[in-house]
Amino acid sequence: MARYDFDLMIIGCGGAGITAAMLATGLGKRTAMVDSKRFGGECTWTGCVPSKAVIQSARTAHRFGNAKKYGIDLRGKFSVRCDRVMESARGVVNAVYSGEERTRFERLGIFAVESAHASFVDAHTLTVNGKNMTSDKFLISTGSSPAVPPVKGLDKVRFFTNETLFSLKKLPGSMIILGAGPIGVEMAMALNRLGVKVTMVEMGRTILPREDGEMAAMLAQIMNREGVSILYEARAVQASGAARIVLTYESGGGLRKTAADGLLVAAGRKPNTDGLNLEAAGVSFNPKGIQVDRHLRTTVKNIYAAGDVVGPYQFSHVANYQAIVATSNALLPIKKRVSYRHVAWCTFTDPELARSGLTEQEAAASNGRRIRVYRVPYDGIDRAAADRSHDGLAKFICSGNGKILGIHILGERAGELLHEVHAAKSLGIKLHRLNSVIHAYPTYNDIIRIAARQAYVDKIRNNPAVRLVQLLRRGK
Ligand SMILES: Cc1cc2nc3c(=O)[nH]c(=O)nc-3n(C[C@H](O)[C@H](O)[C@H](O)COP(=O)(O)OP(=O)(O)OC[C@H]3O[C@@H](n4cnc5c(N)ncnc54)[C@H](O)[C@@H]3O)c2cc1C
Repeated sequence: MARYDFDLMIIGCGGAGITAAMLATGLGKRTAMVDSKRFGGECTWTGCVPSKAVIQSARTAHRFGNAKKYGIDLRGKFSVRCDRVMESARGVVNAVYSGEERTRFERLGIFAVESAHASFVDAHTLTVNGKNMTSDKFLISTGSSPAVPPVKGLDKVRFFTNETLFSLKKLPGSMIILGAGPIGVEMAMALNRLGVKVTMVEMGRTILPREDGEMAAMLAQIMNREGVSILYEARAVQASGAARIVLTYESGGGLRKTAADGLLVAAGRKPNTDGLNLEAAGVSFNPKGIQVDRHLRTTVKNIYAAGDVVGPYQFSHVANYQAIVATSNALLPIKKRVSYRHVAWCTFTDPELARSGLTEQEAAASNGRRIRVYRVPYDGIDRAAADRSHDGLAKFICSGNGKILGIHILGERAGELLHEVHAAKSLGIKLHRLNSVIHAYPTYNDIIRIAARQAYVDKIRNNPAVRLVQLLRRGK
């Protein structure tokens, strides 16, 4: 008789948990999945899926508003129905969830429970809704929640987070957005296009402080042009009001106020570790998340962790990747090391800002003057001209010998465009080698072709034999 009820119990079934369950059951293991809410997690219910659905509605409204640019006159005959926008986003969420329903996992033989409180009794026992269950291995993938900053009075005013925004029936006329990270910036642009007057309040000197400074500044300019107000170096200190929220912030040594009909808090995330009774199992954690080693094993040898609850990157695709590494390590004899050398991501503003690798500043700091930066503006690209999508810049940062160190693309379809060069970077293929790839015309991939050609010309110019011939010619 088996010593434990399960081979693997998964606590938290968002992107990481679902990936882990599918892998474990595929390996023939007795698998259990427990979630305190519904399967699908943040990404499906209150994160990637509804936000991208709302962004697409906002983008459509923006295109309609600019229809004249394409030779189409709507004679003012369109209006944004916010109730329908949110309803349509919820429709998208339900469609995605239909692939993640409990019954789907049960059909695969997985023990699957939703709306269940789970906490550790010891390193091999979990209590689920008051019933003890045992497992050889565990995966903790409980995700993260919106962090609420210590602003006086914030607990007394009604504010939104990503957990409540997408269930709104009606959007407020104006909104303060606290925080200019990816969630704040994506929502600022979308809400503004849906007719909400948006003011962003950001402590730092720039939006998206982790992005390449030049790209973030370009995006901020586009947002300003569309009507989003951004207050920089503004630290929120107090919130008050009911129908109208007043936010007091510190700026330039003094106190100032801004007011709006709504407040969206998008000021970072905190890992979901509360209520798991991790102490009983001996799992160490801190305010940044659960402590793991390079095999994603916690401080207890049979307990692994993956996803937002671990970090360092809080993205769905990283959660999926970590889940594969952690589950393989938990169930198979050969141990994989987690590596974050080639992580790509995209901020889904319009235009999108996509990135992989080092910023120009980071590359210069680690490689000195030997870096090469190939810049291709969108306004020289035929496809961008045809689409009237001139805004944007792509920047490819290489080492002196042509190795790709960083890719930054701000512009139409940046998220898709990134991956050709990201794949080359991940596989150790130098940028100039993409010069020999025939790209379809007219596509945005012309940007890559042009950058690769610049890199190729550079390579030829720096070839010692070519340089010698040039020197000899000059001498002659
Ligand atoms: C507005 C927004 C937009 C986003 N957009 C993107 C995007 O475009 N691209 C991208 O890559 N990422 C995006 N993200 C990030 C992405 O949603 C997360 O990185 C991803 O969901 C993390 O997956 P996870 O499996 O670690 O956690 P989650 O998906 O959060 O899943 C955790 C699960 O654990 C459950 N749980 C929590 N505590 C317990 C407990 N004690 N017991 C049992 N179950 C528990 C929760 O109910 C949840 O179902 C976005 C996030 C937000 C908020």
